[in-house]
Amino acid sequence: MNEQKLLDKLYKQIPQFKCIEGCSDCCGPVFTTRTEAIRLGIEVGELTNIAGSEKCRFAGESGCTRHDDRPLMCRLFGASNAEHLQCPKGRGPLKRLKDNETVQLIGKYKVFVIMDAEKVKNQIPKKQNEVANAA
Ligand code: SF4
Ligand code: SF4
Repeated sequence: MNEQKLLDKLYKQIPQFKCIEGCSDCCGPVFTTRTEAIRLGIEVGELTNIAGSEKCRFAGESGCTRHDDRPLMCRLFGASNAEHLQCPKGRGPLKRLKDNETVQLIGKYKVFVIMDAEKVKNQIPKKQNEVANAA
């Protein structure tokens, strides 16, 4: 299974809900994996904030402009019972992820993060070889 599919599998475990129209109050800098950065068209390892700002570059007047491609942390916020993931506006799905389900999901995401980062490392020698062969 490729990384995009693995990531989608994780996303599917997060219950969805509708945010308040136009709200982006929780949209600060968000961590992205390599695969998530590729989807968003940003540099690998880059946060989603606008340089020098705490605001996410994808926060528009009508809310998230990249809703379908938003990283896992954006999807999880408000969708879990965990205290630090509560929407300040009281939004959330009817059935939130329980604390243990949230911990499990983040555990799987951490494994994915490591696997995704390994992919970058593995690409470096390959590129170096390409440069050496071209010389
Ligand atoms: S989760 Fe809450 S605070 Fe964040 S954008 Fe949605 S409604 Fe706004
Ligand atoms: S990607 Fe979208 S949901 Fe995530 S922080 Fe940015 S604007 Fe908010």
